[in-house]
Amino acid sequence: MMTSTLTLTFVSLLIITTFIRIWLGSRQINHVLNHRSSVPSAFVEDIPLEAHQKAADYSSAKTKLGLAEIVVQALLLAALTIGGGLQWIDDSWRNILVDQEIIRGALVICTALFVSSLIDLPFEYYKIFTIDGKFGFNKMTLNMFFTDLVKHSLVGLVLGAPILFVALWLMQSTGEYWWFYLWIVWSVFNILMLAVYPTFIAPLFNKFTPLADEALKTRIESLLTKCGFKSQGLFVMDGSARSNHGNAYFTGFGSSKRVVFFDTLLSRLNTDEIEAVLAHELGHFKHNHVVKRIIMMFGISLLGLALLGWLINQAWFYQGLGVTTPSHYMALILFLLVSPVFLFLIRPLMASYSRKNEFEADDYAAKHADANHLVKALVKLYRDNASTLTPDSLHSAFYDSHPPASIRISKLAAYTTD
Ligand SMILES: [Zn+2]
Repeated sequence: MMTSTLTLTFVSLLIITTFIRIWLGSRQINHVLNHRSSVPSAFVEDIPLEAHQKAADYSSAKTKLGLAEIVVQALLLAALTIGGGLQWIDDSWRNILVDQEIIRGALVICTALFVSSLIDLPFEYYKIFTIDGKFGFNKMTLNMFFTDLVKHSLVGLVLGAPILFVALWLMQSTGEYWWFYLWIVWSVFNILMLAVYPTFIAPLFNKFTPLADEALKTRIESLLTKCGFKSQGLFVMDGSARSNHGNAYFTGFGSSKRVVFFDTLLSRLNTDEIEAVLAHELGHFKHNHVVKRIIMMFGISLLGLALLGWLINQAWFYQGLGVTTPSHYMALILFLLVSPVFLFLIRPLMASYSRKNEFEADDYAAKHADANHLVKALVKLYRDNASTLTPDSLHSAFYDSHPPASIRISKLAAYTTD
């Protein structure tokens, strides 16, 4: 009874969310293309029609590719679960490894994750070399693409394998409350990663050089001091090695905090604008957005693991999702694959929380730097990144971590007229 209820719920939800995603994507494409012929009035002075049309074509090309990916991902998920794919992977490894459940489990999970990423690979390739290439954003060579892929896989393996083995061991050996111990290990691992990432992992992919421009450095350091922010240095990242998109970010945790500017950002914005962008990023820190996000993530993973701790003992959980030989590792991979389908509907909530944070950071920037300069910087970034100025509002509500350009800029403009 529970088995067929779960199967029915999962299949219906997978179909419904896939249709919603396709519908949202089509809305976005239509909306962007319908507004292609004229630049929104707030931007007429700064964004030429040609750039606006490029942004429209770029977003619709990316969204169209996204539509194809949505369908393929849904089919793959159905094939792995109710289609018996995971069970088949498990059976195959069982033939090779009869005992040693933990090693077999790790191999089954890695195989399933490998298959999923293999399916995503052509999409990523097409996005970078065909779409970004056509619009003049891509700077990657084929060689770099595959080197990155190998490096990412190795880093993933080196960091992921130990945590996977620990997880499987805890599930097998620590009794009823394994999920709580795993949650502690997982949380510690995540905090460790935050500390280790900027100094050890990011440099594997990009070059970080200390900011050399003395005038800019003085300006930024005085802003940092004014805002009471201590960092481990200002760095420039060679973002231009891979793409023409510009950005700036803070990274790290506690004493390993760094300010990182993409070289592409520094080359396009003037000192005032860079200061305003940095003030926005500082706003995120001052409002504890990073810490809040981490605490929220810990809360969600605790709930998820507690739920898994219960599901792992329910026969219908496995059977309802196409698995006939229950085991700890099958419960884990099933849960990892299936939970996004159930979580899709709370997406607008998460996105709206993130957009609220952006407004708070903009507010902070307007008070500690010049809102006018932030507007100028944002307009330049929208233009140079070919971000659409006219997103569909529903699509935006589901997917956008940042508020639509027009809303964000009109809010910032209000500070300057006060
Ligand atoms: Zn932000």
